[in-house]
Amino acid sequence: MPTESLREALPKRITIVEVAPRDGLQAEERILPTEAKLHLLERLANAGHTVIETTSFVSPAAVPQLADAEELMRRLRPRRGVRYPVLVPNEKGLERALGCGVREIAIFASASESYSRKNLGRPREEAIDDYRKVVRRAKDEGLRVRGYLSMVFADPWDGPTPTGVAVDVGRRLLDLGCDELSLGDTIGVGTAGSVVTLLDGYRAAGVRIDRLGMHFHDTYGQALANALAALLEGITVFDASAGGIGGSPFAKTAGGNLATEDLVWMCGGLGIATGVDVEAVAGTSRWLGEQLGRELPAHVARALGAAKPE
Ligand code: MG
Repeated sequence: MPTESLREALPKRITIVEVAPRDGLQAEERILPTEAKLHLLERLANAGHTVIETTSFVSPAAVPQLADAEELMRRLRPRRGVRYPVLVPNEKGLERALGCGVREIAIFASASESYSRKNLGRPREEAIDDYRKVVRRAKDEGLRVRGYLSMVFADPWDGPTPTGVAVDVGRRLLDLGCDELSLGDTIGVGTAGSVVTLLDGYRAAGVRIDRLGMHFHDTYGQALANALAALLEGITVFDASAGGIGGSPFAKTAGGNLATEDLVWMCGGLGIATGVDVEAVAGTSRWLGEQLGRELPAHVARALGAAKPE
């Protein structure tokens, strides 16, 4: 395919949902103080992000890294034009989020049975049923609701997820009233081929591609290739995390999230606008690595850091 036809086949602009403060930090051993999280949120907004998943209202005992959700939301100074969604697991979580004036939530379900039991503590069907009330209440309050679907290609305990199941469970989340559905390759086993097959499945089921986002992990080094495949399929919403941090505290085989700076770098080369400044994200990632006491997996942060030390 000549370069010009590749560009013509691609969207001109995408939205990145920056998930480092929630999906990223929840998997880290070191717990960042609230002050450092606020600084991270500030830097991500400065970098040009317009959607930053901020924290999670899950049980503080289950995810101690995000136990300061209330304090964080109270102290956060929202930037104009930036959305700050939070994760909620149930009605109790929603009540806590509403108490903090949250305007956008995300719920999460699993396409596979085992991960639902481990991550949500209940069977898949029950979890989805339980969300019915959560989504209704959130919509009544005028909130935007995003659905996450994990393990869309495979689950570490159950093996491959049949495409029909991944489509069916995702459709049910949309039918509950979710405005957008993020399809997660939580353990990063998918390839560009899996992406095309899954999105074909959604299309065949009558779901519009513009209601879908993609959430890739780089466990097998496929995240960017998968993102390119998704771009060619018309996807314009991508979850990514600064520095590539994040796995899952409940799925040890999950590698880091697709790194924001790696995605922004690739989009830059393809003429796709992200609104995000690659140098600013890379600088943020290097700072975050210092806070977390480890070198982060993102390629671009490391490469730019070596080329031009701060
Ligand atoms: Mg993730």
